[in-house]
Amino acid sequence: MLAGCTPWPTEAAEHYRARGLWRGQDLGTLLRRAAAQYGPAPALVHGERRISYAELDRWADRMAAGFARHGIRAGDRIVVQLPNVPEFVAVCFALFRLGAKPVFALTAHRSQEIGHLCRSTGAVAYVLPGVYRGFDHRELAREIRASTPDLRLLFTLSGGRDDDLVALSTVQDEPGGLPEQDASDVAFFLLSGGTTALPKVIPRTHDDYAYQVRATAAVLGMSPSDVYLAVLPLEFNFAWGCPGVIGTLASGGTVVLADDATADDCFAAIARERVTVTSVVPSVAQLWLEAAEWTDADLTSLRVMQIGGAKLQRSLAERIAPAFGCELQQVFGMAEGLITLTRSDDRPDVVIGTQGRPLSDADEIRIVGEDGRDLSPGDVGELLTRGPYTLRGYYRAPEHNAVAFTEDGFYRSGDLARLTEDGNLVIEGRIKDVVIRGGDKISAAEVEGHLLSHPGILRAAVVGVPDDFLGERTCAYLVTAGAPPTLHDLKQALHQRGLADYKLPDRVEVIDALPVTPLGKVDKKALALLAAQPRTPVANQKG
Ligand code: AMP
Repeated sequence: MLAGCTPWPTEAAEHYRARGLWRGQDLGTLLRRAAAQYGPAPALVHGERRISYAELDRWADRMAAGFARHGIRAGDRIVVQLPNVPEFVAVCFALFRLGAKPVFALTAHRSQEIGHLCRSTGAVAYVLPGVYRGFDHRELAREIRASTPDLRLLFTLSGGRDDDLVALSTVQDEPGGLPEQDASDVAFFLLSGGTTALPKVIPRTHDDYAYQVRATAAVLGMSPSDVYLAVLPLEFNFAWGCPGVIGTLASGGTVVLADDATADDCFAAIARERVTVTSVVPSVAQLWLEAAEWTDADLTSLRVMQIGGAKLQRSLAERIAPAFGCELQQVFGMAEGLITLTRSDDRPDVVIGTQGRPLSDADEIRIVGEDGRDLSPGDVGELLTRGPYTLRGYYRAPEHNAVAFTEDGFYRSGDLARLTEDGNLVIEGRIKDVVIRGGDKISAAEVEGHLLSHPGILRAAVVGVPDDFLGERTCAYLVTAGAPPTLHDLKQALHQRGLADYKLPDRVEVIDALPVTPLGKVDKKALALLAAQPRTPVANQKG
């Protein structure tokens, strides 16, 4: 396995192989086989563009040869920041075939995140969108390359010049020999929702991801007649492989790529392409529900709407199946691995009120108390897990791994959960210091670090505030010296530092001192309670 990654212990790996969960198949071959079986059938649809399996397969081969001509080799890391376009899929399969490792970035990421991802993974190349949603990523890319010795190559979706940024459309060559792939090695890196000041990346192997997509596709009964609408960013595990894009391609179905989650665009795509399956976060589901009341778009083709990524409120869950005439599937998942989902034969109360059962009977789940001991069934505690598609360590992060995993390899999810009598999981909250804003995960520590770099801010604590639409918004409590910055000034300053916009605080409160727990840590629970109160002036608040 690539240096800096933690392999599964031999015994566990042998067990997963013996059980047929890991089949030694790499993701590049997965597409090759699908192309052999479904050749002329449409693999990808994007607006007017329709790309068959055979075309996608050949495109990936030609692009692999093009990347190789630019010096990309097996083992190289390449940061990939692309919107939901066919090129995203082609780039990934081209890199899989070369044995090079895509590192997924969000299109919302700016210089802070991209710079960190390039440095921490030692990336040799960065695939960028060019100008996207009014932001010119090219300047940012040049700056990062100038300060990052390993980063040699910049490939851009739009606006490339050969001498500077390479246009992705020119990355083509006659297919040549491809290296042998080791399915137990890393295929790509997903971004962690993160609790740390500097985000960590998650190695996913061919074996583990191929199993994940196969198993999720089986739960959904995916077949060549399925049409999957990819509306969440493809770099989210949910849209990429639960079963998402890869699971649909493995099943011979069609992936429709949408770059905008608005009901207008998505309903039109569902009606036009006869979409059968899609996956959304609760805030998008809520928007769609409102729009479903007045739309005349024909949504009758939908058979399953997967909702996950953040807590789905019961009141919302109850409305999904009647409004869309399709099955609701609750999904709890993490880029680190474990997925739980409700099944089509579950009782309605299970589908409405739980996040379902683990994907695999090889998933091991523990619910533990603060002392790390297992709790009785039904009690709420931290969810720990290990299994055939859950990582054993973040990339190049030995110190963090020492706390994020138990000695026997269970991943500490930081989620608070309980198991029902029939083995369904209910997520009750979280102990990790993360705000889930819509589908976006925001590490409080990361934002606090940036706030502290602002002149005059002495202390900072970021907490989540309940929000009817997004689930949570962020509130930053600040202790300042001198005149406190306004919310607008602060957002502007963080934006200029190159932090992604979704991480900028929604609200700022200035306070004399941050409350502390008896152990001397910032008392985030007290701050969250304070932030959730109706906004009447509080004695020790200044603004
Ligand atoms: P990510 O790794 O970005 O996919 O984020 C994973 C985290 O999102 C989990 O650890 C949970 O905190 C949260 N999450 C995902 N799905 C759900 C869900 N269905 N209900 C509640 N929280 C969820």
